[in-house]
Amino acid sequence: MNILVTGGLGFIGTNFIRYVLEKRPAWRVTNLDKMTYCGNPANHTGLETDRRYQFVHGDICDTKLVSDLLTPSIDAVIHFAAETHVDRSLVAAEDFTRTNITGTVSLLECARRVRLERFVHISTDEVYGANRVGASAEIDPLRATVGNPYAITKEAGDKLAQSYWLHPYHVPVTIIRPSNNFGPFQYPEKFIPLAITNALDDKPIPVYGDGLQVRDWLYVEDNCEAILAALEKGKPGEIYNVGGYVFRDYTNKEVAERIVDHLHKDRRLITHVGDRAHHDRRYSLSYKKLTEQTGWEPKTPLLLGLEKTIEWYRQNRTWWEPITTGAFKQWYEQQYKAL
Ligand code: NAD
Repeated sequence: MNILVTGGLGFIGTNFIRYVLEKRPAWRVTNLDKMTYCGNPANHTGLETDRRYQFVHGDICDTKLVSDLLTPSIDAVIHFAAETHVDRSLVAAEDFTRTNITGTVSLLECARRVRLERFVHISTDEVYGANRVGASAEIDPLRATVGNPYAITKEAGDKLAQSYWLHPYHVPVTIIRPSNNFGPFQYPEKFIPLAITNALDDKPIPVYGDGLQVRDWLYVEDNCEAILAALEKGKPGEIYNVGGYVFRDYTNKEVAERIVDHLHKDRRLITHVGDRAHHDRRYSLSYKKLTEQTGWEPKTPLLLGLEKTIEWYRQNRTWWEPITTGAFKQWYEQQYKAL
């Protein structure tokens, strides 16, 4: 198979490309990425010389470029590219509407002019909004309350993708709604890598509000396997949730404590800071449909995944240390003034 991946220098895209090239050695991958602040060229170190891999520096909103790339030789698009950080969406919503909505339409418009086997649109569990108990299923209604601009633009992209599956376009769209991912190559502004890198450097670990928010933590390799399963065994026109291997609710505070304990650091590093606006309290997903249709199940329990992730960051300082200076440092100081 010959696939076009968007946003393949970001966290999940990087892991997915590496996963696919290992598991499907005959496949070819074109990676279209704008290299925004979190699209890191270091993420494809070692791949540049792989003849199955091609990198294109560009913007998904550039319809001319996208249509040049979407030649009849491309079998499937896996669309990861997005602005993804909720905190940034609260101060720069226009970046989110541009990439997450206009960029998605640009891809779908180009996709309807070619014969793709599949267009995999990566959405998020945030489209369901928070749930107090139980787990959201694909048939559940989407968010009823106002959410942060990230969640709202992802929901718009998700619905637009669905509309291109319907008559008259029939783009063979499959939507994936993963829960919060964690693992190697995640930009250290996100909660888990921020907690790990700060703990490694004995710096305060910011935890929003009371820290009792719950996420359905999904190890990124399990997500990559789920996306591949949905591509190969799932159906166009369908939506699949992808949830993590968690036996019970884990709060952010508990996750931070596990990280600190694993590194034998002082729990007093955990510092409560003012809560984020529009902070959804709890997400939980049912992934029964994907299991029933493809056999996929998550394999990595949260605590094992956390240990693997901590070890990766411990061993890859050369990857994250350059990020935590410069623009990131400025953003961090602005974001966590109290620390
Ligand atoms: P990320 O922020 O790490 O990476 C995003 C990538 O997209 C970067 O490489 C960036 O350069 C690229 N990009 C941004 N705008 C672009 C544009 N206009 N044109 C081309 N490339 C552009 O994101 P991630 O965490 O890897 O998330 C990937 C996808 O998965 C996103 O669609 C996100 O909404 C979704 N998702 C993420 C999570 C999670 O926990 N990380 C959970 C559920 C869903």
